[in-house]
Amino acid sequence: MQVDVLNAKELKKAAPVFGQLSFDNHEQVVFCNDKDTGLKAIIGIHNTVLGPALGGTRMWNYTSEWEAVNDVLRLSRGMTFKSAVTGLNLGGGKAVIIGDAKTQKTPELMKRFGEFVHSLSGKYITAEDVGMETADMDTVREVTPYVTGISESKGGSGNPSPVTAYGVFMGMKAAAKFKFGSDDLEGRSVLVQGIGHVGETLVEHLTQDGAKVFISDINEERLEEIKRKYGAIIFEESDIYSADVDIYAPCALGATVNDDTVNRINAKVIAGAANNQLADEVAHGKILRERGIVYAPDFLINAGGIINVYAELENYDRQEIMRKTENIYNTTLQILESAEKNDITTHFAALKIAQQRIDDRKNQNLR
Ligand code: NAD
Repeated sequence: MQVDVLNAKELKKAAPVFGQLSFDNHEQVVFCNDKDTGLKAIIGIHNTVLGPALGGTRMWNYTSEWEAVNDVLRLSRGMTFKSAVTGLNLGGGKAVIIGDAKTQKTPELMKRFGEFVHSLSGKYITAEDVGMETADMDTVREVTPYVTGISESKGGSGNPSPVTAYGVFMGMKAAAKFKFGSDDLEGRSVLVQGIGHVGETLVEHLTQDGAKVFISDINEERLEEIKRKYGAIIFEESDIYSADVDIYAPCALGATVNDDTVNRINAKVIAGAANNQLADEVAHGKILRERGIVYAPDFLINAGGIINVYAELENYDRQEIMRKTENIYNTTLQILESAEKNDITTHFAALKIAQQRIDDRKNQNLR
C-alpha cells in the first residue's frame, strides 16, 4: 500500500494538533483504530484532577476526522466543568466513534471500543451519548468494568433523562427566583424547544407547577402526543426566538443562542437541557447579560444525568441521586448572585467556581 509521507516543509505547514481551536490543555487524546471491525474512535481526557474522566461516547457520521477531533475536545472539556461545578469527584472525558450509528454499529465494534477503554485502566470511564443505547453499554461491560449507564437489570442506573429534566427544572426555578423574585412558576409562560426524553419530563414538571407551557419540535406526532398528555400549547408562530414568553428552555440542539438569534430573544430567562447553548461562550454570554436576560448555565443545570451515572460508581441510592440533583437549585442561585456581584456573565461565574474546585484539589495534592 502506498503511504504518503510529508516532507519537512509540508510537515511545518500542517495544521497544529496541540493548537486545535478546542484544545485546552487536555491531558490525553487517544486515537483508537481497528481495521477488522472498522472502528475509528477518539477518546478525549481533558482533566483528571478531581477523579477519573467520565463522559459518554457519541457515535456520529462526522464530515471529517478533524470535525470529530474538535467535537471530542470540546465535549470532554465541558464534562470537566460540569462535574466540577456539581461537586462530583470526577474528571472530564468523552469519546467519539466515527460512523453511522444506524448502519455501522455492531457488537464487535462496541466490544473492540470497550477494549480500548479498558486499556486506559480506569482513567476514562464511558457512558451513553448520542447514537448509543443502554444495550451498547451492556456490550461494552462484557469487556471492561469502566462503563456506566448500563441496564438496571445488570446493576446500572438506567435512563438518566428524567433526572436530567428534574435538574433543569430546579435550575429554572432558581433562575426564576433570581429574575422574578419567586420560584413559583404558576402562571409563568415557558417555551420548551425539543420535547424528547428530557423535554417531555420537563413539560410534566412545569404543568404540575401550573406554568403555561408552549412546545416546539420538528416532530409533529410528538407535539400532538405531548399536547394530549399534558395540555401543553403547540407554538405555532414561525420565529421561536422572538416568542413573548417568560422563559425559553432549549432542550433540542446546542448553539441556539447565536449571532442570528441573540438579539431577538424576548424571554427573560434561558434555562434548558441542551449542551453548549451559547454558540460563542464569551460574546453571546455578554450580550445576554447586557440585555438583562438571565442565562442559567447549561453545563450546571443539565448535570442530573451525570449525577445519575455517578451513583453507579459510588453506590448511592435513588434518594441520594434526587437530593444531589435538587441541590442544582442552590448552586444555580449562588452562581447567578455571584455573577451579578462580580459583574461577569453567568457562564463565566460557573466556570470560575468549577476551576476553583480543580485548583484547590490540585494544590491539596501537591502538599
Ligand atoms: P432527544 O433526542 O430525546 O430529544 C431531542 C428532541 O429535539 C427530539 O424530540 C427532536 O425531534 C427535537 N428536535 C431536534 N431538532 C429540533 C429543532 N430544530 N427544533 C425543535 N426540536 C428539535 O434528546 P434528549 O435526550 O431529550 O436531550 C435533549 C438535549 O439535552 C440534547 O441537547 C442533549 O445533548 C442534552 N442533554 C441530555 C441529557 C440526558 O440525560 N438525556 C443530559 C445532558 C444534556
